[in-house]
This record gives sequence, C-alpha cells and structure tokens, in this order.
Amino acid sequence: MNLTEYIESKRDEHLNDLFEFLRIPSVSAQSEHKPDIERAAKWVADRLGAAGLENIEIVPTKMHPLVYAESLHAPGKPTVLFYGHYDVQPAEPLDLWTSPAFEPTIRGGNLYGRGTADDKGQVHIHIRALDAIRKTAGKLPINLKVMVEGEEEVGSVSLWDFVIANKPRLKADALVVSDTGMLARGVPSITYALRGLNYYQIEITGPAQDLHSGIFGGAVPNPITILCELFAKLHDSNFRVTVPGFYDDVAKLSKAERKTLSDLPWKVKEFRKNVGAPGLMGEKGFSIGEQLWTRPTLELNGIWGGYTGEGSKTVIPSKAYAKFSTRLVPNQNQDKITRLLERHIRKLLPKTVRFKLDVHSQGKAWVAPYTHPFFEVAHRALEKGSRCRASCLASDCPTKTRTLRTSTSRSKIILAGSRPSRNSTKVWAACSELPHI
Ligand SMILES: [Zn+2]
Repeated sequence: MNLTEYIESKRDEHLNDLFEFLRIPSVSAQSEHKPDIERAAKWVADRLGAAGLENIEIVPTKMHPLVYAESLHAPGKPTVLFYGHYDVQPAEPLDLWTSPAFEPTIRGGNLYGRGTADDKGQVHIHIRALDAIRKTAGKLPINLKVMVEGEEEVGSVSLWDFVIANKPRLKADALVVSDTGMLARGVPSITYALRGLNYYQIEITGPAQDLHSGIFGGAVPNPITILCELFAKLHDSNFRVTVPGFYDDVAKLSKAERKTLSDLPWKVKEFRKNVGAPGLMGEKGFSIGEQLWTRPTLELNGIWGGYTGEGSKTVIPSKAYAKFSTRLVPNQNQDKITRLLERHIRKLLPKTVRFKLDVHSQGKAWVAPYTHPFFEVAHRALEKGSRCRASCLASDCPTKTRTLRTSTSRSKIILAGSRPSRNSTKVWAACSELPHI
C-alpha cells in the first residue's frame, strides 16, 4: 500500500482519533481544567509513541506540561523541529456555539469544535503523517524533534524556560510551526513574516471612591467618559494612529513585495463575508492585504468600569479600565512604541484623573529568509499534497517565534498554515521530501 492509499484507508480512524482529542477541554486559562490539560498532554505523548517517536517526555513546568519526542535515525539527513500546542482558548460565551464546543460536529462538510483549527487539528495531522510515513516506508527519512506545549493560549511562559534549558537538544536545521492560517480555502499558505505585539492595560482613576450621580453628578470627572474620549482620539479620520512617531520606523514596502501581496489568490469578497460587518475600515492609502500584513495597528480589546449588572445603579465610578494592543511591524521597537504611547496618553488625558499603564506582553515583529531552499521544499511538499502552489503571507504570532528562534538558533523557520482538511495529512506526509534538498 502506498502512502496515499494508506492515508485514504485510515480516514475514518483518523477522524475518530481527532474527535477524541477535541473532546478534551484542555483550556489553559482556567484552573478547573488542569486535569484536562494533563489528559491532553498524555494523549499527545501516547500518540507520538504510537507513531514511533522515542524519548517521549511529558515535561512538568511551572504551569502546564510540555510534550517532547524525537526520532534521530537518519544520519546525514536534515533535522526538523516541529512545534504545536494542545491547549485551547476558553469556549465562553457558550450560548454562541451552535453545537457544544467540546463535542466535535460536522456541518456542511466542516468540522466544528474548540481547537479544531487551533491547534489540535494541526498537531493531529502531523502525528498522523509521521505515523503514515513510518507504516508505509518502514522508517522516517529525516530526523525529527517534536515539541507540543500546553500554554500557547496564555503566553507560552514555560516554553521559554524549556527552550533556554534545552538549547543543544532542540538544535535543528528547520523549524516547522503549524499554527498560522491559510489565505483562503484551498490555498495552502506559508507565513514568512509576523507582526509584533505590545499588549497594554490602562487604569484611570478619578474620584477616590464610587460616587452617587444624583449627589455628585455634574461636578466631578467620570473616568469612563474620559477613557472613551481618550480612545476616540487615538485614531484620526483616516484611521491612522495619532501617537507622534508611531510610524517613523516602519519598514518601507518594496515594489516587489507590494506586487506579491497584490497577486495573492485572495478574495476581498470572501474576506468581507468572513468579517460580516456592514463595511470594512482600515488605514487610508493601503490595500486590505497591506493593512493586514504590513502596517502597524492600535486596537481597543476590552473596556470596563462602573456598574454592568442587572437593573440600574446610578454610580460615577472611581475607576475605568481598558485593555488594548498594538500590532507592530519590522524595524519598530516595542519599548520605543510604549514610551511614545505613554507620553501621548499623558498629553491627552485631563489633569482631573490619574492613570496607570501596564505592559502585559510583548512580541517582536519577524521576517523569515523566504528565499531559502527550505521554503522551496515546503512549497513543493504543499504543492504535491494539495495540488496547488502555496502562497507566502505575513501574519501575527510573534512571541512564539521569538522563543522558537532561540531554540533553533540558525535554523530556518517555516510557518505553515493548515486548516485541517481531507488533504491535510497528505500535505504533511509530502513534507517528508525534505531530505531531497
Ligand atoms: Zn495556536
């Protein structure tokens, strides 16, 4: 039986196995799911063992365990390190799910369930591809190291510790991160650049304590109103960020890159449909692709304060809060952006309130050497598995890349977008072509 026949013959078995993985509510952010996290780590370790990998370890960390495995039986051949994560985001709000988040359901040819496309589906595909190659070819044609963590959705803190402590062990020629998106249905995609991220929380304090609006209203500052005014002023009418110096270091797009972006087989119509808003809104003077992948942004992510419970409470709150973030592009310095932003906020806020700005997390923007031969091999493999040419695109997920870059020092990083599909296992099995470079 050849590789394709083997994969086809195992389709139902593969799908049921994926369902089992998806049923584990491995939510890394919620402590009540700690036993599920442990269960998911063990599930991954067991499957890696069944796929023939060795030296399998469930590594305990300060938070959630990380699973490591390897197969090093191809002397003289390249070593590829694969990264994935088994944890998922919380499923709430539950009432927005058509079918239960942790009961995988097929509707209209699509599989729905928390983690299906991020990142359990991809992890499962890789494990099954390795298994398929080993079962049909007898052994893996390259050396492989696999690292599957359980904290991706909460900042990958322990991954950093593990990588620093295991640098020689993680050394590889190429790193495959399968945790990014595809450009569109049927368009296999390789991500070659990632925007960076600064994530902030601001606290604005007005009165020393909550006040009654009937007694104090009209004569005291309301932190929520002031917070809203502040955020309204952080963009101009062309949707450009108003922080002075924000765009100063942004790398200029070359003509070639602009052309590559405009040639991508990407449909604005489909993008609009996916967004579902009555209209789109972005920085003037740039195409949607450029706005999404090459321009820095500032987004308000959450805002709260005062009374939001049932009924009414006529309160003038003492405090108002917001979480917000900036996506950054190559050449922008995260610390400089924070300094510029803080200075601007200080200038915009009235003296009637105090504020505190905390940086919750940071990630550096990154661009890969996408002309390296490894990328060409990845293109060939994706083409063979999916029967169409892969597109290169930029995306967002910087923290992990910085950590993983440290792990592999000079290795080339390939971020492969893979929405699980009928062909996905074949695509990844085709990646076994790596030794031919
Ligand atoms: Zn992910």
